[in-house]
Amino acid sequence: DPSSDQRNSLYDHQHITLTGARENNLKEVDLRIPKGRLTVFTGVSGSGKSSVVFDTIAVESQRQLNETFTWFVRNRLPKYERPHADAIEDLAPAIVVDQRPIGGHSRSTVGTMTDIHSVIRVLFSRHGTPSAGGATAYSFNDPSGMCPRCDGIGRTVRPDYDRILDPARSLADGAILFPPFAVGTWQGQTYTHTTDLDTHKPVGEFTAAERRFLLRGDGRGARKRKVSVDNTGGSRDIDYEGLADRFERLYLNRDLSALAQRTRDLVQSFLVEDRCPACDGARLNPAALATRVEGLSIADCARMEVTDLIAVLGRIDDPVAGPVAGAAVAALERVEAIGLGYLSLDRETSTLSGGEGQRLKMVRHLGSSLTGMTYIFDEPSVGLHPRDVGRLGDLLLRLRDKGNTVLVVEHDPDVIALADHVVDMGPAAGTDGGLVVFEGTPRGLRDADTLTGRCLRRARGVKDRPRERTGDMWIKDADLHNLRNVSVRVPAGVLTAVTGVAGSGKSTLVSRSFVEQHPDAVVVDQSSIGISGRSTPATYLGIMDRVRGLFARHTGTEPGLFSFNSRGACESCQGRGIIYSDLAFMDPVTTTCEACAGRRFKDEVLRLTVGGRSVADVLDMTAEQAIAFFADFPDTAVRRRLDALRNVGLTYLTLGQPLSTLSGGERQRVKLATRLHRTGAVYILDEPTTGLHMADVDGLLALLDRLVDAGNTVLVVEHDLEVVKHADWVIDLGPDGGKHGGQVVFEGTPRELLAARGSFTAEHLRGSVG
Ligand code: ADP
Ligand code: ADP
Ligand code: ZN
Ligand code: ZN
Repeated sequence: DPSSDQRNSLYDHQHITLTGARENNLKEVDLRIPKGRLTVFTGVSGSGKSSVVFDTIAVESQRQLNETFTWFVRNRLPKYERPHADAIEDLAPAIVVDQRPIGGHSRSTVGTMTDIHSVIRVLFSRHGTPSAGGATAYSFNDPSGMCPRCDGIGRTVRPDYDRILDPARSLADGAILFPPFAVGTWQGQTYTHTTDLDTHKPVGEFTAAERRFLLRGDGRGARKRKVSVDNTGGSRDIDYEGLADRFERLYLNRDLSALAQRTRDLVQSFLVEDRCPACDGARLNPAALATRVEGLSIADCARMEVTDLIAVLGRIDDPVAGPVAGAAVAALERVEAIGLGYLSLDRETSTLSGGEGQRLKMVRHLGSSLTGMTYIFDEPSVGLHPRDVGRLGDLLLRLRDKGNTVLVVEHDPDVIALADHVVDMGPAAGTDGGLVVFEGTPRGLRDADTLTGRCLRRARGVKDRPRERTGDMWIKDADLHNLRNVSVRVPAGVLTAVTGVAGSGKSTLVSRSFVEQHPDAVVVDQSSIGISGRSTPATYLGIMDRVRGLFARHTGTEPGLFSFNSRGACESCQGRGIIYSDLAFMDPVTTTCEACAGRRFKDEVLRLTVGGRSVADVLDMTAEQAIAFFADFPDTAVRRRLDALRNVGLTYLTLGQPLSTLSGGERQRVKLATRLHRTGAVYILDEPTTGLHMADVDGLLALLDRLVDAGNTVLVVEHDLEVVKHADWVIDLGPDGGKHGGQVVFEGTPRELLAARGSFTAEHLRGSVG
């Protein structure tokens, strides 16, 4: 029977087999991905790599795994919908190692998330002197070990009265700058109408006793005072409560998670953090801190850079303590091997970059003895200098060699070169993508007639004629984190690349020190655009208002009708276009809303058309199609915004696509699109090539050129050597990461960098010029 033969060769269990995958923009994709191998997915941004790897393979693997549990367990797991595909066969359990921030709370540190901290705790509890007790005695997350003053956080917070009070103003004249207590608010009446203080005297001139009364009252708690509370002369009794007492009661001594995020952010901006005076930031109680191993306390160990800690623990050869120290060293070496030797175990994970976080998650899996898994990585080279990409590759291969299937979405040529198998998606983005344009070996890809193949073949030199600076900006005496009193000139009116290995201090220098000294600088990052889940390119760029106006004018109705957030919205789905049914212990199903057929608007609104198109039709248009549509209804504001989308290479997005479905790089470019018309500004971008294919990088460089040519200054933190070659000026930090970095090792043009000694960036640049 030939058909069963065919089946056998198709499903040989040596491959993950996809048939007819249609998620997002995928066009009936068929794929056979070899198991136990390293497969790299590449292709321009928006071509469909994530749709294959994350939205199809990872989701289906998780869904099938969940199905094997009882419904009782299943009901407690996140629910996944079946991806759109004819068949997905021979999956293995998938572990996604992505760049999503690691749990932000302050109890999560590099030491706790890698579990290295618990090994070190065992070392201290068994071999430290004097011993403080069993293992939890050294845990800052356990009451028996934590510092009682700060509950193991290492920091204490207090209201910042330098920010809350303006010393030059009187209470009646708005001295209280914290908005909920300001003049005119209900809470503020206590202070503008108190009869115990001179409310017309500048707060800075208060005596110590007056200031104490303002903050703490008379120390006897709230007291009723009869005061006039309005300018008609009316009066009533109000309680006087000290400003500090009230602030602490309302905002410090309670569970802040009950407050709206906006309120929390506001309160946060009026707080200062101090290192905990009891434990000096070490988080532990005195008994735990007194214990020594090799003359060091557990807090000393946690504060050291991983590389240094390896050296200290490596010296322990005592037959009893040795094996425990050895286990810690093995784990620490995995952190170092992944290029993070400059971190310390006490570093809070909330302060790590996405790339650092992803690599730390990888450390956990490298230590695991699971085999037969599918590991999925999202651009693991993010944040890595070319020097460290090689080491990253070794680790990916090690995971593979333990008997796992490793799938990597990646653009870096050095990672592509390591693959056993490459899948190139394309040919372009969005609806022009969604196909597999090449499958085979990296060698084969270099010869292939695809965008990726062509990009791999080219070899460029450094920029010949860098732009001339139009002025100088300075960063003076920067000494945050590892920076060693850095003063450096940043040329104005040109494109500057700030380079250096991971941990050398680039982000600190640019995103912190430079921005503090030049507060007008515009930071364009990849974080989510903080608007509602209903934001779309049309709403974010302000095109939607113009569209509504156009429809109202042409149909003699009101603009409000044409918004899916208001009156015009389909009532069945509230303008969402889909109905989401959560069926307790079954997979959730989203179905297209029957009432509006997914078009989000009421019928009567859809019947109102302009140029033969309804408002829903316009939202379904790509930016490119919208440019053509608006040619008949000229509107310079719309035109400018659509052109901006084109200039950032996003014409394939539809006007109505939820921004929540965009990648980080796409989000960053949408943000850039709103800024393009400015001039004389300073733009800061931290690794803007993240998520970008080599061909997309060309588009990005063209965009940065346009920004500079329009009279702006652009400063990018980058590892991508194509960006470095294209820059007018390079500032290279190093020589290495952490305390071995923090210095400027080179400043000059890319051509001068080619000849520089003592710079890892120079070394790799020399290797990459054609
Ligand atoms: P890549 O990973 O290659 O950058 P993606 O798979 O993320 O590409 O996206 C492929 C296309 O599908 C893009 O046009 C993208 O905008 C679109 N897309 C991705 N997710 C969604 C979604 N949830 N809804 C609608 N479109 C989506
Ligand atoms: P790069 O951008 O070159 O990778 P960073 O500026 O992120 O380097 O880091 C420089 C040094 O400062 C590193 O030793 C890093 O561990 C440290 N560092 C960065 N951010 C923080 C932070 N929020 N808290 C403590 N140390 C930090
Ligand atoms: Zn403390
Ligand atoms: Zn509907």
